[in-house]
Amino acid sequence: MRNDLIKIFGEINKEILCKEEYLTNLDNKIGDGDHGFNMRRGFNFVLEKLNEKADIGFKDALELTGQILMSKVGGASGPLYGMAFIKGSNSIKNSKINYQNIADFVKGAADAIELLGKVHLGDATLYDVWRNVAIDLKRELPKEIILENITKYRDETREMMALKGRASYLKERSIGTIDPGCASSEIILRHLLEKL
Ligand code: ADP
Ligand code: MG
Repeated sequence: MRNDLIKIFGEINKEILCKEEYLTNLDNKIGDGDHGFNMRRGFNFVLEKLNEKADIGFKDALELTGQILMSKVGGASGPLYGMAFIKGSNSIKNSKINYQNIADFVKGAADAIELLGKVHLGDATLYDVWRNVAIDLKRELPKEIILENITKYRDETREMMALKGRASYLKERSIGTIDPGCASSEIILRHLLEKL
């Protein structure tokens, strides 16, 4: 169990590190260019803390992740991801890494983002990825389709005008760039769901 956890979070951390520049570039285009740094810093802390906890379970690991992202990551995404992981972890019944728990986690996280971000589907924020994946999990779509769709939900934000966050200041000029928060969310959710 703990090995699975470290594997999942290790893979997320590694990919965020590799894609820091990509996340930064997206945020440079429609925001302030700190999203890559924010995410790398946050997930580095997460992995460090998880490695210190000898026998932490899935539910507690998700909650700890939320607390760390909340306290260590700045910008809009820190509190949003923080609350998403905390509320998501509170939505799961036990510490098994299984379909039901991941579906409940993603739904709880999407609810938290919706509430805190005052955000709707189509606003071109990370909420688009979390809510749509929560819906796909509820519908019990085949795993390959769920994984394919994560990328689709991320890419669809390229054609949208941002209605929330810094990118919304650009109005029509935000069209043509993938939302950076969707790009980091795609990485996180893909690694979680690949383990199913
Ligand atoms: P900041 O915008 O403060 O610089 P980041 O660059 O780390 O913070 O994160 C930007 C991301 O946060 C956006 O790409 C978007 O996905 C997400 N975001 C911003 N505002 C909101 C909101 N109100 N609701 C949901 N997500 C949001
Ligand atoms: Mg930013």
